Order: sequence, then structure tokens, then C-alpha cells
Amino acid sequence: MIAAEFSVKDRPDRIATLVVGGGLLGCAVAYLLAAAGTQVLLVEKNQLNAQASGQNAGSLHFQLEYRMIENGESAARKAAEAIPLHLDAQRSWSWLETELGADLGVVQHGGFMVAETAEQVERLARKIALEQAAGLQTELLDRAAVRARAPYLGEAVIAAAFCAAEGKADPRRCALAYARAAMRLGAQVHSRTGVQAMRRNGRGWHVAFDDGGVCQAEHVVIAAGAWSGRLAQMAGVVLPVSPVALTMAATARTAPLIEHLVQHAGRRLSMKQTPEGNVLIGGGWPAALRQSRGLVDLDRRPELLLPSLAGNMAAAAAVVPAVAHLPVLRVWTGTTALIADQLPLIGEVPKAAGLFIATGGSAFTLGPTYARILADKILGRPEAFDVRAYDPQRFGSLTLA
Ligand SMILES: Cc1cc2nc3c(=O)[nH]c(=O)nc-3n(C[C@H](O)[C@H](O)[C@H](O)COP(=O)(O)OP(=O)(O)OC[C@H]3O[C@@H](n4cnc5c(N)ncnc54)[C@H](O)[C@@H]3O)c2cc1C
Repeated sequence: MIAAEFSVKDRPDRIATLVVGGGLLGCAVAYLLAAAGTQVLLVEKNQLNAQASGQNAGSLHFQLEYRMIENGESAARKAAEAIPLHLDAQRSWSWLETELGADLGVVQHGGFMVAETAEQVERLARKIALEQAAGLQTELLDRAAVRARAPYLGEAVIAAAFCAAEGKADPRRCALAYARAAMRLGAQVHSRTGVQAMRRNGRGWHVAFDDGGVCQAEHVVIAAGAWSGRLAQMAGVVLPVSPVALTMAATARTAPLIEHLVQHAGRRLSMKQTPEGNVLIGGGWPAALRQSRGLVDLDRRPELLLPSLAGNMAAAAAVVPAVAHLPVLRVWTGTTALIADQLPLIGEVPKAAGLFIATGGSAFTLGPTYARILADKILGRPEAFDVRAYDPQRFGSLTLA
């Protein structure tokens, strides 16, 4: 655990930027703001990196994901508008270990999105056309070309889209490396410090913590993942952030087998192998959010659904037959945040000047990029991308002011 030794007494009661949430996004924003010479305080209600950022599959996927292409052409086109962000993320991950001075387990050996049917091959062709038009280098490989590059893929795979920049990183390390780098630059990071309330006053935001302490901040950043909608509610703002519970599994170790990231064009599936030899299997199979007294309780681990596990394993074994013989060692669930229109949510919160948010989508892959966009906005720097489509202002009408 980082920085648990700080006491309430050590915590500043006045700060330029207060970042709420110690996942990848919060730690990355804190790092970028500290690197710009701003005073930053990051608070995390439990331990750093203990939620989605530390529990995810670690896929660095720059191709449009299955969830983005399964709902027809117009949804895929909308998702493709974010490809400039994917390209930035691709570059960011390639130098992140050097930038943070840490081994993050980043490997970019390429990623396949496989097809088992003619319909899926057509879907891949349409996806690749959208990606190439937006500058992302992907190519369609036929069965023989796939087999030549990835002999571990089974006979069921008849074609695949390939993106050479895709890969994986170790989710257990990334947020913590950002937090350490932020602290080296002077940021204060306090775990076990939850935000309980906030209200706008003349000078910014007055924030109350669950240990009784308070802080006055010029800017507040909501980087609270699945809890982000609740944080916005504390400020009196309604944003459609939905928690989504997902399933992951890891097999026993085996000899080097899967060199790439593997995803699927027609089923929920992601696969990769860790350096230790475990095969990680996920791809968006649902788990069940728990309830307490009739309300969704985000603080309890979602419940594993056995049909999800069975479906995920069947998809994995169809694509990489060798995994059918590997025992599953560990299964876990985690909760991520999805926005009503499935697009990212990045920017200043409507009707709440000085309050910023970043969440939604694949915020592990896109985390370094979301963080940079948000830090630029807070610092008033010129923006590197046109992110108006992801501006929280699009949901401004949900809040009556
Ligand atoms: C099982 C699973 C697999 C996934 N696989 C991938 C993948 O392969 N690739 C990919 O790109 N994305 C993946 N994702 C999504 C990705 O993990 C998330 O988008 C990303 O980690 C979100 O980071 P975050 O920092 O916004 O949120 P989190 O990591 O959830 O961090 C938010 C933090 O805010 C804290 N917090 C909440 N309320 C408060 C409060 N009141 N006060 C203080 N702190 C608070 C929480 O305790 C938490 O630590 C996956 C998600 C899951 C669940």
C-alpha cells in the first residue's frame, strides 16, 4: 500500500487539485499535474489499484472491440471516431515504462481479432476499413497467414484482423508506478481516505472526507471508476455512469504458447499469456452486481456467474484448443464503468465549474490518453484532440440547475 502512513494531520486543507480515486486514471492524472508543477492531493477510499485498474485483463487493444462492432455499422462508425485516442494510447504505452522508470510488463507483439464464420470475416473487413480510414494500421489475414503467425490458433479460426501495435501490460503494476512517479514529483497520495461530500463555494470546492477531515480545492477530478456517477451526485450533478460487472479467469502455468493478444469478432473473448505462463481469459462476460438493502452495492465484489465462466472457457478452447487441457486456477470479478452512449466521458462536469471527470470505456488501454486530455484541460493547455463528443456537457440536460 502506498502512502498509508500519512495521517489526517499531514493532509493539506487547501490544494490546487484534488484527485478522487486511486486507480490508473487518478494516479495518471495526479502524475501529469505534478509533472506540470501543480500541487496535487490524490485520495483513495481503500487501497490504490484495488478495483478495476488492478483487476482487469491487461489487454492493450487498439482495434475496435467486439462490443463496438456487434451493434451494427452506425455504432461502429461512432466508436471509430475515437481512433485518434487509440493511436495516442498506442504511442503512450510504447514509452510509458521509460517515462515512469518502471517495468510495467508492457509487451506489444501484436493482436489478433479472430473470425470463425463468413459473417464475422465480413464484419472484420468493415471494421478494418473504418480503422484504416482513421489511420490505425490493421490488416485482414486469411487462414494460412493466421496459422503462419499464430500456430496455436485452432482450425475453427478462418481469418483474423491483425494489429501489430496491440499487446498487454501488467495491471498490478501500472497505477502504482504512476502513483510513485507522482509522489516523486511532489504529489500527496492518501489511501484509506474516502470523499464523502463536496459543495461548490466561491473559491472552488469544499470537500469532506470520511475521517472527518476537509479540504478546499480549486479543481476536483472525479477518477472514481464505477463510483464516478455517485461522486458527481455529491456535487448535485446527474451523469449516466453505469457499473458493469465482469469475469476473468487465469489458468495454471504452461510453456510459452500464446505470444499475442487474442480477441474475437463474434464472441466475448480476450486471451493472453503472462510472463509466468498463466493464460488470462476474459473478454466481457458478465458477473452480477451485489445488492445491499435493495440497492446496488459497489463496495462488494460482484458475484461470479457460472454460465459466464462456462461460456468464456468454451470460447477460449474453440480458439486456442491447447487451453482446454489447462486447469483454471483462479477466477475473479471486477466492476468497470460504462456510459449510456458507450463513449468516453472526459472533461469539465456540466453546471459544476472546476469539477472534472474521466471515466468510461477501456480506460486501462486508453488511461494514459484520458489522463493527458484531462490534465491539459485543467491546466488550460491547448488540446491535442477534438474530444467534444466525449464532453460531459452532452448530458447537461440531466441536471436541473
Ligand atoms: C474484469 C475487467 C477486465 C477489464 N479488462 C480490460 C482490458 O483488458 N483492457 C482495458 O483497456 N480495460 C479493461 N477493463 C476496464 C478498465 O479496467 C477500467 O476502465 C479502468 O481500470 C478504470 O480505471 P479507473 O482509474 O477509472 O477506475 P478504478 O480502477 O475502478 O479506480 C477507481 C477508484 O476510485 C475509488 N473511489 C471510489 N469512490 C471513492 C470515494 N468516494 N473517495 C475516494 N476514492 C473513491 C475506488 O476505490 C477505486 O480505487 C476491464 C475491467 C474489468 C472490471
